[in-house]
This record gives sequence, structure tokens and C-alpha cells, in this order.
Amino acid sequence: MELTKPDILRYLSVDNEDEILELFRIADRIREKFVGNKVYLRAIIEFSNICRNDCRYCGIRRSARIRRYAMKPDEIVRCAQYAEDLGYGTVVLQSGENSLYDDKIADIVRAIKETTNLAIVLSIGEKSYEQYREYRLAGAERYLLKHETSNSELFHELTGRSLDRRLQCLRWLIELGYQVGSGNIVGLPGQTLEDLANDIVMFREWDFDMLGIGPFIPCYGTPLENNPAGDPVLTLKVIALSRIATKNAHIPATTALRTVMGDDKSHVIFRCGANVVMGNVTPLEYRKLYRIYPGKVCIFKEPEEWLNDIKEQIKDAGLRPSGEAGHSLKKTWIKNSMKLLSLG
Ligand code: SAM
Repeated sequence: MELTKPDILRYLSVDNEDEILELFRIADRIREKFVGNKVYLRAIIEFSNICRNDCRYCGIRRSARIRRYAMKPDEIVRCAQYAEDLGYGTVVLQSGENSLYDDKIADIVRAIKETTNLAIVLSIGEKSYEQYREYRLAGAERYLLKHETSNSELFHELTGRSLDRRLQCLRWLIELGYQVGSGNIVGLPGQTLEDLANDIVMFREWDFDMLGIGPFIPCYGTPLENNPAGDPVLTLKVIALSRIATKNAHIPATTALRTVMGDDKSHVIFRCGANVVMGNVTPLEYRKLYRIYPGKVCIFKEPEEWLNDIKEQIKDAGLRPSGEAGHSLKKTWIKNSMKLLSLG
């Protein structure tokens, strides 16, 4: 089934339950055919909430009056080792966008690579080509940089920055042989269904390795605190349509979606096209402070307890939890990595 933009728009606007369930069933079959029955478990370490950006939706934006923290490099490495001990095959290192770690990331990546078998995803925002290259050569295989919305005016209005620059970063990351994740926020104030359809068309055209799709959640203390949250069913539709459009991208049941649906409903998300889930292994003292939106799931649960619960839910969905690295199923990153290594 090759979806056109009008097909996508039509599915985004249907409110007939039978048609919505049919869409989810198609996405589920495509997930089974192209990515199989494993759900990959990734650990996330939110190592600093210091951010120079002032995105209107985000609870750790520069002007938010919150306590800031920055984990030390050896704490981050120990935390990654702990993630491996728990059985994870991939660790995501995420932070607000800041330059404090610019000259430390390569060492952190090397230390994790020397002491574990983990695949590493960086999610630290917009950097220069040279920095991305340095981190890739140090051993980071993946990078997550959501484009948030493909509507460039809305992007600028909400972030104060330019979508072109973000897209340039994504192009560099692809060129450098990273497995690249992008993604969007569903239900942003001012966003239309056509914007969401454009996001999905973009996911297919760019052939991203991973897609993070989550609802907008209003956060107190931000300019958007009084706006309604993104609709979970609309978010599930975007996930399902993205699965159908991209076939074999890795698509997580995002923390934001699990937050609005309730963490005990994750099995539903796995039957609408998702095949990945992230567990938070950030030490509790910091985890509480990485409050990009309120009510975030897995804030107070111990990582072991959360892992046991999510594995049960994956099994309830008829799928298999996997602690393998779960690399991208696409081929572009391999070709570009070869090019980089013969040059570098
Ligand atoms: N600095 C990195 C970057 O810019 O990619 C990563 C950190 S950023 C806090 C991680 C993600 O949080 C963003 O890509 C955005 O989609 C999401 N986010 C922030 N505030 C949100 C909100 N109120 N609701 C839903 N998602 C939000």
C-alpha cells in the first residue's frame, strides 16, 4: 500500500472507529512483515538539563526557572555500564543543547565503547559538521534530532530558530554514516493536519532510520502551559501512517505518548506500528529535574521494576522484548559509514 498525501490526510481526519482500527491493523501487519516481532529496549540517560534554546513548548527551555544539573563524564559512563548490566543493548545519551560537553562527548563515547558492547545514540541537538564527525569517529553510531514540525514558520515561531539549519544538521548526520532519527510533535498549537501529513511524507522521502513521534504535553512555567495536550488517537494514527509509509524504520512507543495514554497502555502502541521502547536509567536525583513536560512516566519507578513491567506488556501484545542492539534495517548508513572510514 503506497500512501499518497491525500490518503494520509484522509486517514488523519477519519473519526469512524472501524476505519481507525483498520488503519492500526494494516500498520501492525506491516510492522510484522518488515521489522518482525521483537521490541527493542533502549536505555536513556538524560545527562544535563542545561539548554541554550528557548522552545516555547519545552519545560527545560533557557528561561524556565528550574534547578539545572550536568552529570560528570565518569557518572555518565558508569550509568551506561549499569544499563548494559540491566540487559540493554543500546544507550541514548540525551541533554539540553549546550556547549559544556562539546569537547567531552568523544571521550565519553570512547569510554563507553571500551567498557561495554552498547550501541550509542546521541541526542544533543544542533552541532557543527566537524563535531558530528568527531563523535561519529569516536564510535557513536546513531543520532536523534527531531525536526519537530515540517512547517518552517511554525518551527520558527515555537523555537525561535530556523528549520533549514535543523535540516542541514540532519543532512550532515546522514552523510557521516550515522543511523539518523528524526520525528515530530503531534498537536502543537497552530499545527494543522496538513502539517502532519507533510511530516509523514518527509519521513518517507528522507528515509530516516528511526522516528520519534509523540504528542505535545503542555508544561507549567512555559508560554504554552494553557494549551491542550496532543490527542493520543491522532498520535497513534501518525505512528501507524508513518509505519505504513516507511515500512522498516525503528519507531518507538515514545515516553510522551505513554505519558498521555498511561504506561499500562503501551501494548496498544506496539500493535499500531511501534517496535522500540526507551527505559530511563538516569539517576533519580537528576531524572526528576529533566522535566521537559509534567507527569512523565518512569520518573519514580526503579529501572529494574520498569523493565519487568514493560517486558510483560510487550509479551501481552504478542511480541518479544529484545536487549539486542537492534541496528537500523536501512542500508544508507552502512554505505556512508564505509565512505567516512576510508576517508577518516
Ligand atoms: N537538545 C536535544 C534536541 O534538541 O534534540 C534533545 C533534548 S529535547 C528536550 C528532546 C525532545 O523533547 C525534543 O525533540 C521535543 O520533541 C521533546 N519535547 C520537549 N518539550 C516537549 C513537550 N512539551 N511535549 C512533547 N515533547 C516535548
